[in-house]
Amino acid sequence: MSKAKTSAGLGWIRTAEGQHLKGRRSRDTKPEITLRHAVHGLGLRYRLHRQVAPRCTADFVLPRHRIAVFVDGCFWHGCPTHGASAFRGPNAERWAEKIAANKARDQRNTAAAEEAGWTVVRVWECEVRTAPERAALRILQLTSRARDDGTRSR
Ligand SMILES: [Zn+2]
Repeated sequence: MSKAKTSAGLGWIRTAEGQHLKGRRSRDTKPEITLRHAVHGLGLRYRLHRQVAPRCTADFVLPRHRIAVFVDGCFWHGCPTHGASAFRGPNAERWAEKIAANKARDQRNTAAAEEAGWTVVRVWECEVRTAPERAALRILQLTSRARDDGTRSR
């Protein structure tokens, strides 16, 4: 099981954690679906996987309110509680670098989406796990603000 092996000259040590993190970019993760259900339960309508900026696809959007929602995985996007700083292992430093790069990209994507006229909501995976309704309410509040900004509602 724990045969530590350097892979492809990159200096990464193969670990059980690393294997587990494969497929981290996959769509329709459990927290994503949980949040979608909570949002739907509040009567909001969304569309999935909409591109909101070049090379930036939101997990789902509320087109009527121009709200783009991203559900960020704790480890991969560097959540303050469950991010790389909490990670121990032979690759800790490399993970930290990679996650810092991810966070920088998240920030660029947020800025690009906002520039394209989207209100961006980023929700941590752990927020969805512990309080999906609260996360959904945060989105609902933004929809009423968007209306106040002049978007017509029926
Ligand atoms: Zn977290």
